[in-house]
Amino acid sequence: MLEGLTQDYQLTLPYILRRAEQLYGYREIVTRRPDKTFHRYTFADFVARSKRLAVALTGLGLEPGDRVGTLGWNTYQHLEAYFGIPSSGAVLHTLNPRLHQDDLAYIANHAEDRVMLVDETLLPVFEKFREETNVEHAVVVTEGGDVPEGMISYEDLLSGADETDFEYPNFDEKQAAAMCYTSGTTGRPKGALYSHRSTVLHSMMVAMGNTFALSEEDCVLPVVPMFHVNAWGLPFASVLVGAKLMMPGPNLDPASLLEGFEQEGVTFTAGVPTVFLAVLQALDAEPDRYDLSRLRSMVIGGAAVPKGVIKAYKERHGIQVVHAWGMTEMSPIGTVANLPTRIRELPEEEQLEYRAKQGYPVPLVEIRARGDEGFVPWDGESLGELEVRGPWIASSYYEAPEGADRFTEDGWFKTGDIVTIDGFGFIKIADRSKDLIKSGGEWISSVELENALMAHPAVAQAAVIAIPHEKWDERPLAAIVLKEGESATEEDLRRHLESDFAKFWLPDAYEFVESIPMTATGKFQKLKLRERFAGYQSAKS
Ligand code: AMP
Repeated sequence: MLEGLTQDYQLTLPYILRRAEQLYGYREIVTRRPDKTFHRYTFADFVARSKRLAVALTGLGLEPGDRVGTLGWNTYQHLEAYFGIPSSGAVLHTLNPRLHQDDLAYIANHAEDRVMLVDETLLPVFEKFREETNVEHAVVVTEGGDVPEGMISYEDLLSGADETDFEYPNFDEKQAAAMCYTSGTTGRPKGALYSHRSTVLHSMMVAMGNTFALSEEDCVLPVVPMFHVNAWGLPFASVLVGAKLMMPGPNLDPASLLEGFEQEGVTFTAGVPTVFLAVLQALDAEPDRYDLSRLRSMVIGGAAVPKGVIKAYKERHGIQVVHAWGMTEMSPIGTVANLPTRIRELPEEEQLEYRAKQGYPVPLVEIRARGDEGFVPWDGESLGELEVRGPWIASSYYEAPEGADRFTEDGWFKTGDIVTIDGFGFIKIADRSKDLIKSGGEWISSVELENALMAHPAVAQAAVIAIPHEKWDERPLAAIVLKEGESATEEDLRRHLESDFAKFWLPDAYEFVESIPMTATGKFQKLKLRERFAGYQSAKS
């Protein structure tokens, strides 16, 4: 082999930090605090504080590769963690505060988090599971509030460190930079572990023209939480290109978001359908209240966005919705429904059909779909399970050999999504082979609910299915067969589940049925059940 004569330059996050320091010191990062006031500072401030965080973490005795957990909203301090933690050589591990305390304890223990950065508003969540973990240092992210005994104030930690002690490291790009656990599998949550290289490459892809087209001129408002797969890579990509960031904090209500869009001149935003459905309703109620003329792109993903929503945003408010699909195991972006020129030549209504699909693969992601008889043709009709490969897609789960069956022998990842692929390479998700329900962007395991329900003395069989829901996309419905001669009410079953599951997991409805349709191999035929309850629109919100 004749080797090319190019430098062996390592793709690492400290490079992005240095670029921000050298070129974009004047750019702004705005955060909305819980009380709705604004915190503002520049990239220069952000870089200095991220460096101090890196120095301080090393001072706490962290070794390269150690995990640092975070429990936080989309804030400037969380952005500092995104860069400060990996730049110290440690691994940024974002935890989802919406999970049940037992899952949080499991995840913190499995990842062996040594330090936890906790937003002060999330202390009650942390305090519920801290005792179950081996976290050595709890750091409370507060701008000046009191810190419980035995914990460190984030500001004290930073002021005790000197940014001039920070030296840009020369890491191997294969080193781990960040991790995120997914409940989007059966069994216990599993960790995806991203490298510096995969994160840098993913950031470059996110910024590309036919992906999200991010540049220095943009103002990005990530609605998607920073604990959901690195906010889809937007914080890393925005800093790479020098885009202004508007961090909404915990304020994800339509009025706060719309004020933020208008006041800060947001050009790009992204999040799950639930949030943007609420925003659409607010806009419809007061169509002339906000000037959103700078908002050029609203990426919606994490769950399917209805065609009517894409159309309504465009026709009634002049906003282009871009549908996207991805997974925790994919860093997460896999496909984006930007329309290539060939599709833009089609009539408007047909174009809309493509916009409502999940999109075509972004550069460096390859797709194929496997049916019962091998790979299916790209005809837009044949169904198969989507498999993917690419440089930011997991090669295995972190220390979870039981997840090995998700990876094929030839190095592809099995997504569990059942799709068609059309001649333009657009995927359309038709179903999910994972026995899971996605409500407002968060996973609910039907199997776990079923097991818990079947542990109730009056329940013979329980099958939990997803029913479509206007606001939350999907909600759980439990079909229950009672034991002969036993009785239980909806309220009994609800109370039975309450203590073991997060509130949003509890089924919206319990349907008492004679029997549950079974397959020849003795499994619940959920498809049949879903058909039976297809018209069921849960009234609860
Ligand atoms: P997560 O790992 O939590 O990000 O969830 C990934 C899963 O969410 C995918 O495998 C899909 O089942 C689902 N998902 C993500 N984006 C979409 C979308 N645009 N349409 C339908 N389902 C989606």
